[in-house]
Amino acid sequence: MQLTFTDSPLDHAGLKRSDPDWIADQMADPAAKAVLFAGGDLALDERGDPMIVPARRTRLLPLKPPGLVFLGLQNGAPWFAGALQRGVAEKGPDFRITAMQAEPALACVFGRARSLLQWHGRRKHCSNCGAENALADGGAKLVCPSCGTEHFPRVDPSVIMLCWSGEKCVLGRQASWPQGMYATLAGFMEPGETIEQACARETMEEIHRPVLSATYVASQPWPFPSTLMIGLTAEIEPGDLIPDDDLEDARWFTRDEVRALYDSELARWAPKHFSISRLLIERWLAGEV
Ligand SMILES: [Zn+2]
Repeated sequence: MQLTFTDSPLDHAGLKRSDPDWIADQMADPAAKAVLFAGGDLALDERGDPMIVPARRTRLLPLKPPGLVFLGLQNGAPWFAGALQRGVAEKGPDFRITAMQAEPALACVFGRARSLLQWHGRRKHCSNCGAENALADGGAKLVCPSCGTEHFPRVDPSVIMLCWSGEKCVLGRQASWPQGMYATLAGFMEPGETIEQACARETMEEIHRPVLSATYVASQPWPFPSTLMIGLTAEIEPGDLIPDDDLEDARWFTRDEVRALYDSELARWAPKHFSISRLLIERWLAGEV
């Protein structure tokens, strides 16, 4: 099971992209493609497919600032991304659906594009002095021409953990989720803590149980808008759970109960390959903790 967004074919060309002439050459390359967004979702072409066009053709299209951003090279062929002005093209389905249905390499390209474009959409001005930022490194950073501050795309690390004790695990649900849906606990890391400390703190905050030990399993870029999910399994002290306010419920599950939960309509909402939560659950079901 290859986790979505984790097997990117893109070479970010970090040693070359600071050269504006090199970026211009990539944009002029006949093989260069650009994926275009309408808001947070992909734009659709006339046939209803994701709008992927030759990068050179985007000169004629009304793009939001800063225009095209460079994503990387796939087997030497450049990829770019741009956000269309509102109303120019039809929006595709919710980005989660698009990413679930895309072939794995393309889902990675779409995910990196979404994270970068969402960041650019919120960083037009320098957070230090308010001047308008200038694009640098093909969009891999912004530089303030007034005070010189460099701004780098934001990534928010988040711990996500399958908590277990004995033969049971803990899953929780938020009120906004589909009826009956339960998943692993998760939360953003805070400054000054290790991954293990964040896992212990979040587990204590969310269900009021202490973590005995935590083991790193895998990570997943999560472009909503730009989180890095750090997946762990955590053995916790058994006992009563007290769900935090942001959880509607949290409870202990046996393996049979978890299998029943995911052998249902919910499986389509969260297919096995799509989320690290599901990967952690599947590993636990298989006895791999
Ligand atoms: Zn500034």
